[in-house]
Amino acid sequence: GENNDVTHSQILRFQMPELPERCEWAIAYEYNAADDEWTRGIIAVHMESRAFASGALRNAHKLTIKKNPVIYSANFNSPNHVKYEEGKRVNQMKLPRLFGPVDTTYVAKISKTDVNFERYFEDVKMQMLCKELGARYNDNNPPKNIDFLNAWVIEIQKQNGQSLLCGLEMFMEGEFKKQNSNFGTVFSDRNTPQAFSHFTYEASAHHLLVVDIQGVDDHYTDPQIHTKDGVGYGAGNLGEKGMERFIKTHKCNPICIQLDLPPIGVDLTDSRNITRVIRGTMALPDLVADLDKHPYP
Ligand code: ATP
Ligand code: MG
Ligand code: ZN
Repeated sequence: GENNDVTHSQILRFQMPELPERCEWAIAYEYNAADDEWTRGIIAVHMESRAFASGALRNAHKLTIKKNPVIYSANFNSPNHVKYEEGKRVNQMKLPRLFGPVDTTYVAKISKTDVNFERYFEDVKMQMLCKELGARYNDNNPPKNIDFLNAWVIEIQKQNGQSLLCGLEMFMEGEFKKQNSNFGTVFSDRNTPQAFSHFTYEASAHHLLVVDIQGVDDHYTDPQIHTKDGVGYGAGNLGEKGMERFIKTHKCNPICIQLDLPPIGVDLTDSRNITRVIRGTMALPDLVADLDKHPYP
């Protein structure tokens, strides 16, 4: 309520608790897709100095969030507003998704090369948009639900006054697997990840396509979006070329059919095919074999 509101300067002068041992302060940014709004708070974190894994672009470090997490939070619409604004009124406790039980293990992802700070915020937005598309996929009662991890940006405050930007998400136990790439490669014979990619293409009226499906089982992270105009979502957005590559290699599977996705690679200018698609009786030559081979997702 109003009475809990404090100004930044009040926080900085009076309300910083003692930093837990072996920890650093970090500003955490949480994205709310429904309002296209960011919320920030201060947390104490401990990050392992050695990376436990790395991808093409980022190193992944384990990180724990210590007690006394949120000191303040504030809503804003753009990461350009991240600088402290003296005297701005803020509300406490507004990072609803971030805090699991104390000592939950998270992953901090740090770019291997110098990237613009916007990259971190755009990556989180991309993942949260994919999470929404995942929920819409699940609404269609597929055999297996999927989910994308929540993601945040954190800005760790270093001793020398500099700060270190990281992507943040929960650490997943289990075997991490890549299911498809942003250039049409299909890495496994599982149906769910490929059907989800196809779903995003149809659900967006061919305006976007979610690829780079990877994670543990159907808990995904680090997706890539291709857009029709090739704009946004980083260098991995290969635009129509990326979409073409997906279409070239994708084989509709029983889940695509169950979800009534228009079969890819079928000539829909042939009205007989449209009728079959609408009736759900379209069987592609490839699919018949697949139905025997992979009856389950
Ligand atoms: P890419 O090479 O796909 O572009 P990247 O460089 O952006 O990837 P990520 O794929 O996000 O980085 O992470 C690198 C590696 O860290 C992954 O391949 C995986 O082994 C591990 N990893 C990433 N996220 C998690 C997680 N949430 N839980 C456990 N391990 C993870
Ligand atoms: Mg990856
Ligand atoms: Zn398909």
